[in-house]
Amino acid sequence: MTIRPAEADTGIMFKRTDRPGSPLIPADVFHVVDTNFSTTLGMDDITISTVEHLLSALAGMEVDNVIIEVDAPEVPIMDGSSAPFVFLIRGVGVVSQRQPRRFYKVKRKLNLSHNGTRLTVAPSNQLSINFTIEFNHPVIRRQDYSFTFNQSDYIKHISRARTFGFMRDVRYLQENNLALGGSLDNAVIMDDYCVLNEDGLRYPDEFVRHKILDFLGDVALVGRPILGAFSAHKSGHELNNTLFRQFLADPQAWQLVTPQAAAAQADTVQRRVARATVKQPAVA
Ligand SMILES: [Zn+2]
Repeated sequence: MTIRPAEADTGIMFKRTDRPGSPLIPADVFHVVDTNFSTTLGMDDITISTVEHLLSALAGMEVDNVIIEVDAPEVPIMDGSSAPFVFLIRGVGVVSQRQPRRFYKVKRKLNLSHNGTRLTVAPSNQLSINFTIEFNHPVIRRQDYSFTFNQSDYIKHISRARTFGFMRDVRYLQENNLALGGSLDNAVIMDDYCVLNEDGLRYPDEFVRHKILDFLGDVALVGRPILGAFSAHKSGHELNNTLFRQFLADPQAWQLVTPQAAAAQADTVQRRVARATVKQPAVA
């Protein structure tokens, strides 16, 4: 995989270099074709899977425009978090472009619930997420985490949180030819009682932090940074995607603002004001 610099109005695009003509797949909510286990983007019959951790890293580093060349149907899983991608992006550097960023500022509350899961967004001058998860498992139980977006807190408190799963599911997936590369090197794996990874957890509440990491990856699919207060209870890629489609389809729900207008609000956390791309290609 190579993350390449791109023009200021490109957005985030995947390029399948192993397919004839190297077709491009835009990373936006309208090209999400599957949300089982991971987010898959597709156009015609060309797909790219497991995009969410890389998209989260790009959102975390406030990178708006890149072309991501991949020679396989899947983004490398790395260690199951977004930290290796953050490391790559910081390694090559990020450069501001001439165009100003525009933000979607949430104007009215939206609320979705489905089968005991819930996701709401309300007006705010910054991007914040409160997430709760509940698992009937002794290591997880109920976890709650609130995150207000800024780059250094993303890197420190969110990017290292790994994806997680249960041994019984890994067995089931592998019997069905999925997650064949799944191992203790790229996920937190639990049996019915405890974490099986020798080094344990990176944060005591790594599970809910990873849900926020995933959520920020899904937010990146909206296409512009958002100023809004999200509250999620057991939400996943599918509910996130449904809410974002509704949000974009409802002109009463948002207003496009410049960072200057946003910064005029006293409680706004400073965000990058110009669009940005990577300084040089980054290879994983
Ligand atoms: Zn994830």
